[in-house]
Amino acid sequence: MNTRVIALPDEAATLNLGAELARAAPRAATLYLHGDLGAGKTTFSRGFLQALGHQGNVKSPTYTLVEPYQLPNHQLYHFDLYRLADPEELEFMGIRDYFTEQAIALVEWPQQGAGFLPPADLSLTLSYDGNSRTAEVTAHTDSGVAMLQRFDAERTRS
Ligand code: ADP
Ligand code: MG
Repeated sequence: MNTRVIALPDEAATLNLGAELARAAPRAATLYLHGDLGAGKTTFSRGFLQALGHQGNVKSPTYTLVEPYQLPNHQLYHFDLYRLADPEELEFMGIRDYFTEQAIALVEWPQQGAGFLPPADLSLTLSYDGNSRTAEVTAHTDSGVAMLQRFDAERTRS
């Protein structure tokens, strides 16, 4: 099974899921983050970034579309494609360059970039569950499956 369903009772749980997946991540990976406005995609990204050594704020790059982060051991690009009018705009932004280097991409609203993004190694869907959230994590590539296995191993230990 390449899918995990995880209950996220509060914000701390969403941050922790981000941190756990970050610790399971290889140098290069593409993660699609699905979910309605306010479902927790940016919260997840903050947990992910902080676990890889980022200190400070993380905001959705709603107007700039992408925010680069040079982390101690990783290059990471955080995309928010909510306001992307046309997926072709990604070509003009030089999207290819972001994905040719060894980097992690976290992509909010990936459906807005359909046809111009590389396929996801892992996709995360965050849903509202009353005042809480539920996450469904699915691996789509061998690299994504390996990431889920490292994630499972860490969760069994803790
Ligand atoms: P998105 O990027 O998907 O639009 P944000 O992460 O910006 O969403 O906002 C999510 C909101 O929901 C924040 O106010 C955050 O505190 C809250 N939140 C995040 N995870 C949970 C959770 N598991 N349960 C309840 N509230 C959460
Ligand atoms: Mg967001």
